[in-house]
Amino acid sequence: MSKHQFQTEVNQLLNLMIHSLYSNKEIFLRELISNASDALDKLNYLTLTDDKFKKLSYEPKIDIVINKEEKTLTISDSGIGMNEQDLIENLGTIARSGTKSFLEQLSGDAKKDSSLIGQFGVGFYSAFMVANKIEVLSKKAGEKEAFKWVSEAGDSYEITKAKKDTHGTSITLYLKDEESEFLEEYRVESIIKKYSNHIPFGIFMDKKEYVPAKEGEKEGKSETINSQINKAAALWRIPKNEIKDEEYKDFYKQLSHDSTDPFLWMHTKAEGNIEYTTLFYIPSNPPFDLFKVDYEPGVKLYVKRVFITDSEKELLPPYLRFVRGIIDSEDLPLNVSREILQQNRILESIKQASVKKILSELKKVKEKDFEKYLEFNKNFGKVLKEGLYGDFANKDALLELVLFKSSKRDGLVSLKEYKEAMQEGQKSIYYISGENETMLRNSPLIERFKKSDIEVLLLDEEVEAIVVPMIGEYDKTPIKSINSSDVDEEIAKDNDKIDEDKYKEILVKMREILKDDVKDIKISNRLSDSPSCLIYDKNDPDFQMQQMLKQMGQDNLPKIKPILEINPDHEIIQKITESKDYLYLNDVSYLLLDQAKLAEGMKIEDVSAFTKRLNKFVAKGL
Ligand code: ADP
Repeated sequence: MSKHQFQTEVNQLLNLMIHSLYSNKEIFLRELISNASDALDKLNYLTLTDDKFKKLSYEPKIDIVINKEEKTLTISDSGIGMNEQDLIENLGTIARSGTKSFLEQLSGDAKKDSSLIGQFGVGFYSAFMVANKIEVLSKKAGEKEAFKWVSEAGDSYEITKAKKDTHGTSITLYLKDEESEFLEEYRVESIIKKYSNHIPFGIFMDKKEYVPAKEGEKEGKSETINSQINKAAALWRIPKNEIKDEEYKDFYKQLSHDSTDPFLWMHTKAEGNIEYTTLFYIPSNPPFDLFKVDYEPGVKLYVKRVFITDSEKELLPPYLRFVRGIIDSEDLPLNVSREILQQNRILESIKQASVKKILSELKKVKEKDFEKYLEFNKNFGKVLKEGLYGDFANKDALLELVLFKSSKRDGLVSLKEYKEAMQEGQKSIYYISGENETMLRNSPLIERFKKSDIEVLLLDEEVEAIVVPMIGEYDKTPIKSINSSDVDEEIAKDNDKIDEDKYKEILVKMREILKDDVKDIKISNRLSDSPSCLIYDKNDPDFQMQQMLKQMGQDNLPKIKPILEINPDHEIIQKITESKDYLYLNDVSYLLLDQAKLAEGMKIEDVSAFTKRLNKFVAKGL
């Protein structure tokens, strides 16, 4: 016998299971059956691909045994099984690197937490919600020895050598006194039907059934019969019109471990050149690891109903990583290796067609029920925008789906709506990007657009600031940042012509003062309330882009100087030009530059000089 300590994270998790998660305890059965089904899948795959296992004969199935006297519930499978090492690795630790942050995410809200737990895939441990002791008896296929793992939660478990005739795993739960409902056949049966009806293997259980009187007998009797209680037919292979919505939903829950109904599903059977079936779901809530580098992919690959892998991230592009579901191909060889998978042409065409399908279904939702689409957008809009970065083939479809904040509306706007509402003569779609919405709404750069009633998209999400400048155009209309200098000409009106001569002197003087800080100083026709603003030469990256490049590790960017624009209609500029009194021009120049920086969300280098200047003028004005 050997005694082992649980990894700290397991310990924390077990404590949570036992003390704080009250609702929806029944999911433990779904988790154990799903593990059993995975174990059968793995062995099935080996018998088809590995010579060592080709001759193995066994019946792939799951058995449930209820023992009312002992108060135990046993779930057995004839799957791949675990040896001592596997038991230690799988049932003593949590390998996933996100465990810590997952535990931190738990809120103590039992309902929310139990759905998170499932998603996280800590399935086995959930059995401690209903059991105070668990025994796992297992024998690995192809090996001689069997082992028994026993734990009463706490901080440790024991492993002993044991006897078991056949390969596979048998998990016995010693139920807590208050959980005796899980000893009732009808209760167990209904949970299995609810969550595990469509796992591809039969689940068997002893059931009392009424057998009608045979000839010569007076009356019928109740007999215990071992019978299959689930359908055991892969749901995705059943014709669409024979599947009820409820069945689709339940299948989703089993697949994703999510306890909420899915937002949308799409079931496609493709025939012709390449034959395959796909069943995709979009969740109603974002998976907890959506923005983690080591997120778990949500799509399982099958070949002719044989499970191949659920850890292949390339089945769908990363920007669709929230999609859950199944791809079942008729044409791939069963023994596809990972390397082959990644550059397989058949799989690539399935992937392309799947992306098109998913995007077009989303478009339908957007057109038919915008409110509903907004829900989707809240959860996944940001992720979807990532697609604009790399998926050129689907750029047009993505451009129809993305939504943005806008200077003219409270809600979100699509590019199509933006275009339809463009002013006469407006040449481009305009945007401004920066850290937060309020700053963007009040940016001096936007004043002129407001005045001419031209809509500006407000990009306050990092991903938007990265991808939007690369889009180029939407439906033949260019998309441009309002702080690029060529936008000026586009929106200049004839009566905007500025009498340059009038400002020649002040410009020359200010250029001399600020020569180390700015590339140029110009008279602006884009401002109305603010005295100054910063723009960038059309070939230079703007401030947001510079920040982004820095974050992406480009520290040795050359210093990029902005262009300072001043507002000829503002009192400050008017007073100086008219009086030709340049006594304070040094201070004024710096104040104009510094406040323009602040409005852009930039830092000013010498804050004390700034406040000194400011205070000087405040004192003068008092
Ligand atoms: P998950 O199933 O999400 O990986 P679990 O905690 O439920 O997390 O299970 C941990 C691991 O234990 C599984 O990945 C699997 O390798 C192993 N395991 C659990 N149940 C069985 C079983 N019935 N047969 C074989 N292996 C199992």
